[in-house]
Amino acid sequence: MSLQRARASRCDAWAFSPAELAARGLSASGEHVFAALQRPWRWSDSGPELSPRLLGELAELGCELPRIAARHGSADGASKLLLALPGPGGAEAHIELVHMPRAVRNARVTLCVSSQVGCALGCTFCATAQLGLERQLTAGEIVAQVLVALRALGPRHPGELTLVFMGMGEPLHNLAAVAKAIAILTNPAGLGLAPRRITVSTAGLVPQLERLAQLPQRPMLAVSLNATSDSLRSELRPINRRYPLAELRAALERYPCRPRERITIEYVLLAGMNDGIEDAQRLADFCAPFPHLINLIPFNGHARSAFQAPGEPTIEAFARALLQRRSCLVTVRRSRGGDIAGACGQLAGAPAGQRRLAVLS
Ligand code: SF4
Repeated sequence: MSLQRARASRCDAWAFSPAELAARGLSASGEHVFAALQRPWRWSDSGPELSPRLLGELAELGCELPRIAARHGSADGASKLLLALPGPGGAEAHIELVHMPRAVRNARVTLCVSSQVGCALGCTFCATAQLGLERQLTAGEIVAQVLVALRALGPRHPGELTLVFMGMGEPLHNLAAVAKAIAILTNPAGLGLAPRRITVSTAGLVPQLERLAQLPQRPMLAVSLNATSDSLRSELRPINRRYPLAELRAALERYPCRPRERITIEYVLLAGMNDGIEDAQRLADFCAPFPHLINLIPFNGHARSAFQAPGEPTIEAFARALLQRRSCLVTVRRSRGGDIAGACGQLAGAPAGQRRLAVLS
């Protein structure tokens, strides 16, 4: 079979499975090429170790890598990469991802990745919403962003990696590409990530939850809730007008959690908005019908935001009220990379000079 010359994306080949590569008539086996592409710690300085002929064949399929346009390191060990995605006619789109070692110089790493350039959901506390949806990332671009980050910053072994789809965009709004990327990233011939090491975080796109549940390589689910009344949630997250809390909770009750699996409920604490004791009690009640873990996230302030994080005593009182109401599992997320605007809520996805602040799902 001859090489396919028409291509939709300049990164498509990164999301081809061994069988899909084989079907393109390359001059080596699909398994061989897939392993060379998907194991970045084995790349040479110039990229995957493949013959010039194979690299030429892959170039025809769309095998460019995102360019690291900027890199910022935080005092706490986190790093933020600004990636320029190749586009038609030399036009580039920008996304950011954050690389968070568990501790300074620790090999275990969480990568926070993006699924879209911009976002369509219009959450009122989020500057990404002001961008609107510039475009969806392709599966190849999602895979390539992970490989570029691993190549640049590690870890050197996939067993030390956790992926969270909590960067720019709403992953369930681009579920086909996210699902395809997950299938590639979990393929044992490549990175072989365990699906449980991948978390997809949604603002609450109810119909897509069912589709997510049916994925063969189903990741862990996180839902960014942020409010416990429809009036406040609709104000913060307009998607709540379409899928109000009762509908969302019913979908989470139906969600087929595996043994010992819990749905993570993320709750960004906004001073004076959603941080009262009654909010905590309603939050505990909302979560009661399904296996869950509540992750409290004090808001990461930024220059354009009118919102603020509550003080430590309020955060502690909120967590205590949750625990008193029900026996919940509660964690408080201490964001990483705040000094490089890489903490949750601070990603920009634009080159310096065009920077716009973003709050993440
Ligand atoms: S908070 Fe998340 S879902 Fe909402 S607009 Fe921002 S990126 Fe999109």
